Amino acid sequence: MAEPVAWRADGVPRSERFDDIYHSESGAPAQARHVFLGGCGLPAAWAHQSQWRILETGFGFGLNFLTVWRAWREDSSRPRLLHFVSIEAFPVSRDDLLRAAAAYPELLPLAEALAAQWHGLLPGFHRLSFDEGQVLLTLCIGDVQPMLRAQRFEADSIFLDGFSPQRNPAMWSADTLKAVSRFARRGTRLATWTIARAVCDALAQNGFQLTKAAGLPPKRDCLQGVFAPAWQVRQRGPAPVPPATAGRCAVVGAGLAGAAVSASLARRGWEVQVLEAADRPAAGASGLPAGLLAPHVSPDDALLSRLTRAGIRATWQQLAQWLVEGSDWRASGVLERRAADDDRLPADWAAEGPNESWHADPDRLRASGLPAGSSALWHARAGWVRPARLVEAWLARPGIRVQTGCRVARIERIGTDRAQWALRDANGTLLAEADRVVIAAGFESRALAPAYPLQPVRGQVEWGRMTDAMRLPEAPVNGDGHLIAGVPGAEGALWCAGATFDRDSIDARPRAADTAFNRERLARLLPEAAAQLDRAFADGTAQAWTGVRCASADRRPLVGPLSPEGADGVWLCTALGSRGLSFAALCAELLAARWHGEPLPLPLKLAQALDSARAADQRLASAM
Ligand code: SAM
Repeated sequence: MAEPVAWRADGVPRSERFDDIYHSESGAPAQARHVFLGGCGLPAAWAHQSQWRILETGFGFGLNFLTVWRAWREDSSRPRLLHFVSIEAFPVSRDDLLRAAAAYPELLPLAEALAAQWHGLLPGFHRLSFDEGQVLLTLCIGDVQPMLRAQRFEADSIFLDGFSPQRNPAMWSADTLKAVSRFARRGTRLATWTIARAVCDALAQNGFQLTKAAGLPPKRDCLQGVFAPAWQVRQRGPAPVPPATAGRCAVVGAGLAGAAVSASLARRGWEVQVLEAADRPAAGASGLPAGLLAPHVSPDDALLSRLTRAGIRATWQQLAQWLVEGSDWRASGVLERRAADDDRLPADWAAEGPNESWHADPDRLRASGLPAGSSALWHARAGWVRPARLVEAWLARPGIRVQTGCRVARIERIGTDRAQWALRDANGTLLAEADRVVIAAGFESRALAPAYPLQPVRGQVEWGRMTDAMRLPEAPVNGDGHLIAGVPGAEGALWCAGATFDRDSIDARPRAADTAFNRERLARLLPEAAAQLDRAFADGTAQAWTGVRCASADRRPLVGPLSPEGADGVWLCTALGSRGLSFAALCAELLAARWHGEPLPLPLKLAQALDSARAADQRLASAM
């Protein structure tokens, strides 16, 4: 349930929980400009930087964020990338978000863009993306201290804004401020409107040099600080990889993983050369006629469930940004059939959300041709996608060059003072030189990353053209097998059903036994639809498509350096398994964040669950 807001007669929003107002009576943008932007020397401080990272405690209505975003838009010297990370335990409703912004017409269009992505705010991190991905908002939904522990980056500016210290001491406790200080680098500036003694003492103890400045009336003062500890700051955790400066990057593979990485890096200024062995992009598993985009849901909200939710949000933004809804993808929702004893949801999920999956109601079941009482989930934030269209859109971004028909056989280090890489084919012919390399070649990554246990998983789907007589469910149905219908094609709508999982096979030929298996499963999943498709199989118009995915030992993607000591060189972004649509965009942003010392799009534990280092650990474990 969204946090209730009490609106005062003068329009200022108030929290009953904290018995305090959300912003100064002088108006939120004025406060944001004077106290927060002004206190941190912005916008001048970010001029001509490649990126700027702001950490805020207390997102509230996001009026600080919107004011910063607007200042960024209006600044011709703005950084290429603006990161705003904000922590919020009690998110307000979308309506209240818009109501608060309505008082400031200059912010309203931005608030509307924010409101459009203001959904599904379960506890955890949510990466929202604006202005073609140049403005990235990471909302950390949860209590301030655990959220700070789950994030890791060096902030350039810090805004402290969590109701008054008297009303909300936890937000300003010595422990909270110590945790905030861990985000500071030497020179990081901090701003807040309170000059409470305990707050000043804690910040000073943690290395901030503080100045009292004139406040925004009716407040007399506000506080500004700069992180300049008198002591040497101790290294926390493993030594960070020095942030990369955008240069030349070679990406091996032009499927979903490679295309997503290319787009994320090109957006950060990299010159990307994509090398693809086939004669076209999306020639492997990403060439599937239509794929499902739906979250994994489990009663304990397991790791995979949280990862796929974050992944779908990342993909959704890209679909909405670059593709045409209705022809390249459809936000149809997906019905997932479950066994009767296997349809439990997390205990705290509610009918009104913020979760976006529920037990399917009788109307949904009927629309899918299933009897009332069938056990099924309805995923509202789900649908189908033509993956090759997404690959094409990503590869069309400026700064990306694609070379097909070249198979990389070797990646060699060249240069002495600066690491450089040469990519050669089996004859030794030079294909590319680059500062960094990303291997994203699906199961063919094995040849370039032999130390990793990458397993090919062949998949076969059946597909065909829909006839006028067919009445297939409009929303895809998933379960043991799946059916997608109504996918626009050049010569009419298509249906698609599958898919098989054939481990350790790379055989591209369709198999009759797999067709029979896919049909049997469809007959169990959706008997009516299967009966309608019998004719297509009988008259030979149904076709089979095969592709080979790539899976890791624990079935999660591998994102990280090929070897621990080579973090500034060759990286892996592969093993997306049969969840390329769920994971490609997220893995690409995670890789880019790690290269550039940016805020993580995922809580640390989830990011570690995708780190290729775990595969190295598994190798060690199996060798012992
Ligand atoms: N910066 C906001 C803006 O620009 O609209 C206003 C922030 S408001 C003054 C403070 C916010 O801190 C509230 O939304 C409140 O729910 C949140 N908050 C309070 N205590 C918190 C805690 N312990 N952890 C996380 N968020 C908290």
